[in-house]
Amino acid sequence: MNSVAIIGGGITGLTAAFRLKQRGVRVTVFEAGPRVGGVIQSVCSDGYLAEFGPNSILETSPRISELIRDLKLESRRMYSDPRAEKRFIVRGGKPVLVPGSPLDFLTADLFSWRAKAHLMAEPFISRSGADEEESLEQFVLRRLGREFLDYAINPFVAGVYAGDPARLSVKHAFPKLHALEQKYGSLIRGQFLGARARKKSGEVSKQSAKKISFDGGLQVLIDALANELAGNVQLQSPVQELEQTESGWRVHASGTAETFDAVLLAAPAHKLASFKISSHNPISLASFGDIKYPPVTSVVFGFRRSDVEHSLDGFGVLVPEVEKLNILGAIFSSSLFPHRAPKDHVTVTVYLGGSRSPELVNADRSTIRRLALKDLAKLLGTKGEPTFEHYTTFRQAIPQYEIGYGRYKSMMDEIETQSPGLYFAGHYRDGISLSDSIVSGDGAASRIAGFVEKGSAQESLIV
Ligand SMILES: Cc1cc2nc3c(=O)[nH]c(=O)nc-3n(C[C@H](O)[C@H](O)[C@H](O)COP(=O)(O)OP(=O)(O)OC[C@H]3O[C@@H](n4cnc5c(N)ncnc54)[C@H](O)[C@@H]3O)c2cc1C
Repeated sequence: MNSVAIIGGGITGLTAAFRLKQRGVRVTVFEAGPRVGGVIQSVCSDGYLAEFGPNSILETSPRISELIRDLKLESRRMYSDPRAEKRFIVRGGKPVLVPGSPLDFLTADLFSWRAKAHLMAEPFISRSGADEEESLEQFVLRRLGREFLDYAINPFVAGVYAGDPARLSVKHAFPKLHALEQKYGSLIRGQFLGARARKKSGEVSKQSAKKISFDGGLQVLIDALANELAGNVQLQSPVQELEQTESGWRVHASGTAETFDAVLLAAPAHKLASFKISSHNPISLASFGDIKYPPVTSVVFGFRRSDVEHSLDGFGVLVPEVEKLNILGAIFSSSLFPHRAPKDHVTVTVYLGGSRSPELVNADRSTIRRLALKDLAKLLGTKGEPTFEHYTTFRQAIPQYEIGYGRYKSMMDEIETQSPGLYFAGHYRDGISLSDSIVSGDGAASRIAGFVEKGSAQESLIV
């Protein structure tokens, strides 16, 4: 029977392992920690259902609904409350509604008339050269102007990447944006014209994709995958060394070693950087250590409803850097998925740190609490003591696809071609979101299944 080792039991590794097991491949997931799920962790406590890591999945690809269907989780899937579609961005120290449609944009308070006029001119701005690699900041300044950068892109990037638009590569961090310009010559034109192509492929744009979770939070997805993989997961088994042999890949974990036909590397890039790999073609992943992963602290606060002035009628609020607040943004978690806080209570999840304030990773809890509550009081009119609070620090949270990231992607493509049986997937390869990670794990499983099934077909011909 074909055998595959999956290194890393986050959503990427678990998805790949489940898909391979379905195809009759013997899989072993090596997970360094005491639990699977990676950064996903939903916890029920004191009447709250809190997400300590990610909050929701964007249903951008049919592969996500297929995974949910195959895990028999359709009846447990929850779509975010339609009333939580509204988003706010801070301007002048206050949350201001983000326009939801082109018509709303014209009357919105968030942007000046100058910024609106700049946006209208976007279809007439020529595209950049296909080979030029621009930062997101350069791209936005060229096409949309400074105000759009400061009050739309900067807070959006803080919310998604916890990153810096001046360093992120538009081509690698926002490949669809880059492709719209290259293909249609304009983002606005591309939004309309690209809709037909997306419909044909079954893909949904991130702006219009539905946000999903489950009745017990994202943990339900992890538990279902772990259940399907019972007996295939080795916890507290950090892998540090791989060795290519005549018959496959020898995986060294916690003092033991076993040979597999193929290996999928689904641990974070900063962990892979220290892997010792001996192979027929020399491989070093040391340069992965240069990929930046800024820290993020998430704080889940519960409040009495009567202690919050803001109606919390939306997804959340994002903070532009120019507003000089402490937090990157806040999600109105109990509005997004109702019934996650006790009666007459609400939940707000706050994020701090990122590329903007990486030093906060070393701040003590009382400092983080003070900074977060100060901003919430200013933005949402919170008062009194929170009724629930939980702090999680991700010391290396999200990989930054900065200018030059293409060299890591090319390196992975090259290794997969030149060292048969070694594969890469996850947030450092195919995009940083949960939906990207699921699609990445699913895609890796198809590539690996093709490889191992071809190997066993050749073996049976020889026999
Ligand atoms: C605070 C935060 C909020 C987020 N919010 C959202 C959101 O709301 N929506 C969204 O779409 N995305 C969100 N993301 C991004 C998304 O959650 C991640 O990109 C995604 O979960 C990555 O999954 P993964 O399996 O690739 O990696 P991970 O979840 O990092 O899993 C990797 C696993 O590998 C294990 N490992 C590490 N080293 C080794 C080793 N040597 N041997 C074996 N195992 C090893 C780790 O212990 C871990 O379990 C968020 C991320 C963070 C940090």
